[in-house]
Amino acid sequence: MNKTVIIIGGGIGGLFSACLLCKEGYKPIIMEQHGKIGGGLHCFERYGELFESGIHFVSGFEEKGPLRKLFSYLNLLDKIHLKTLDKHGFDIIQIGSEKFNIGIGKENFIRIFSKSFPEESQHIREYIDVLYTICDHIPLFNLQPISDVNYLTEDALIPVGQFINKYIKDEKLQKILAWNNPLYGGNEEQTPVYIHAIITKFYIEGASRFIGGSQHVADAMATMIIHMGGEIHLNKEIVNIEVDNKKITKVIAKDGSEYKADYYISDIHPSLLMDLIHTENIQKAYRERLKQLKNTYSSFLVYVKFKPNHFPYLNHNYYYYNNYDMIWNTINYHLDDFPSGFILMTSPSKNQGKYANKAIVHCIMRYENFQQWENTYIGKRGLAYESFKKEIENKIIDKVNEVFPNFEASIDKVFSGSPLTIRDYLRSKDGSLYGYKKIYETIFQTRILPRTKIENLFLTGQNINLHGILGVPLSAIITVGIIIGDVNYLINKINNNQ
Ligand SMILES: Cc1cc2nc3c(=O)[nH]c(=O)nc-3n(C[C@H](O)[C@H](O)[C@H](O)COP(=O)(O)OP(=O)(O)OC[C@H]3O[C@@H](n4cnc5c(N)ncnc54)[C@H](O)[C@@H]3O)c2cc1C
Repeated sequence: MNKTVIIIGGGIGGLFSACLLCKEGYKPIIMEQHGKIGGGLHCFERYGELFESGIHFVSGFEEKGPLRKLFSYLNLLDKIHLKTLDKHGFDIIQIGSEKFNIGIGKENFIRIFSKSFPEESQHIREYIDVLYTICDHIPLFNLQPISDVNYLTEDALIPVGQFINKYIKDEKLQKILAWNNPLYGGNEEQTPVYIHAIITKFYIEGASRFIGGSQHVADAMATMIIHMGGEIHLNKEIVNIEVDNKKITKVIAKDGSEYKADYYISDIHPSLLMDLIHTENIQKAYRERLKQLKNTYSSFLVYVKFKPNHFPYLNHNYYYYNNYDMIWNTINYHLDDFPSGFILMTSPSKNQGKYANKAIVHCIMRYENFQQWENTYIGKRGLAYESFKKEIENKIIDKVNEVFPNFEASIDKVFSGSPLTIRDYLRSKDGSLYGYKKIYETIFQTRILPRTKIENLFLTGQNINLHGILGVPLSAIITVGIIIGDVNYLINKINNNQ
């Protein structure tokens, strides 16, 4: 009989783990607290439009890209609908009144920046060459066999700001090259350069968006799982995990139902997982560490449905910063001046034409601004919360309108999500966008290993390796590789599409 694996959480990590397990002849059983599968891939409907919750733009589907390889291996590539962003400006950055484009492809990236900063042309090339080399030396990100899960070298661990400044002399350019730090919760003095390198290279290689929303990706994976004999249980919040003699004996859902399997994978935040397991088999020091590690910051999201034929579809992400000092500091705002920056993204629909149907505006925000309502739940947070949320939403609309003067007039419907919305829908810790914060000095404390002291419990998801549509599937490969007994066997199989 097939070995069974209960997966707690049907997000990106849970779905990829389940698909990989199916291919190895295991029977995955996903328990998802939400009524819809997907986690970060989940899209929700409002005013007749599908809006993204946690994946706005992606990459890795270009020729030899890691996600192209992975989806090909799962026989799902033809189910994924993608729109590549503008080659000569997949990201447009506006700082005050100055604008810069980020181009797809390494040479294109160098060429575009060298035009604006001709005296730095050679430095830009050196910078990007070293950045690519850092990525090339991390085997997992190239789907190459790994000799150790602690695969990071010292070069990859210096603070990102120090790394950029080592190669680039122009102070403006030093800041511009950090434009994408909100995509990884970056801090100039703390984030190890390998994270910046991976995210930067990943998007330069092939920035794109899922057409019609990411839900179709989750649905394609769910169909594969069911087709191959797995199970998906929705509205099944796991609230208790029973352990005996260093092994999980069963998991218990909120509705009282109980489930047993040979193995268990947790795709939820490790700190939240600790609240579900009460056993002395997990040492106090390990629990404390998982509880006390800092998480990345949160965000405030404004969702807009546009009036027909009003606001252009932008085939790029638009980053705005008030000034150069804000690039590393969007999180250090004063509420009176909020927001000091934003990212505007229009999502492509099927048969996307000249005009956008919808957009999301993403502004980095501290959880503490909403903390006074942390003991409330969706839809029942009270008038004071609603009014504060509206105030923030209006501030953001005003800011976007300064940059795009027809933005406000183009809005048909608008609503928003606070850090508490993110916390409660995605069950993320304190509304954190990307899980544990990675700090170069303490990096080995934030590297959570998939194996646990409970023999049949394994961890996956964004906290194991790296967040996002690249990091989380790679975590799933490691987790499943450990369960089947050979990580490199699985990596080689995916790489060679066997
Ligand atoms: C607003 C926002 C925007 C983002 N934008 C991007 C982007 O554009 N590109 C990108 O690559 N990344 C982006 N990310 C990051 C990305 O969404 C995450 O890194 C990714 O979703 C993490 O995957 P995961 O499997 O670890 O967790 P998730 O995908 O969140 O899955 C965890 C799942 O567990 C379920 N769950 C939790 N507790 C329980 C329980 N007790 N019982 C049962 N089920 C439970 C949850 O409902 C959820 O479905 C964004 C994140 C946020 C919040």
